[in-house]
Amino acid sequence: MKTEDEIAIELSDRVVEVSRSAIETFGVECQLMKSIEELAELGASLCRYLVDPDSLSNLASVHEELADVTIMTTQLNMIMDDESVCEVIREKLDRLESKIAEEKKGDG
Ligand SMILES: [Mg+2]
Repeated sequence: MKTEDEIAIELSDRVVEVSRSAIETFGVECQLMKSIEELAELGASLCRYLVDPDSLSNLASVHEELADVTIMTTQLNMIMDDESVCEVIREKLDRLESKIAEEKKGDG
């Protein structure tokens, strides 16, 4: 049986592979428009989930839109230059870690 990490790596490799193919096949402009659409759909599904968190169809909708957005953000990273995005992610993670440490200090 595969571990969660193995499944995540396998899925991630496939998302990258299919994302690259989607950009080549449909073009950058089309995938940027699709990204906007999917981000809006996730926002709408999260609103419905917050209004009625006990609804299984609302939860299923969040899962579906989150999957769509995960695929589209991979494509956005490729289109907008992965390495530049990675650098900003590192900076933001540093800042978030500092905030977490500050918050934990406040709890003590
Ligand atoms: Mg969608």
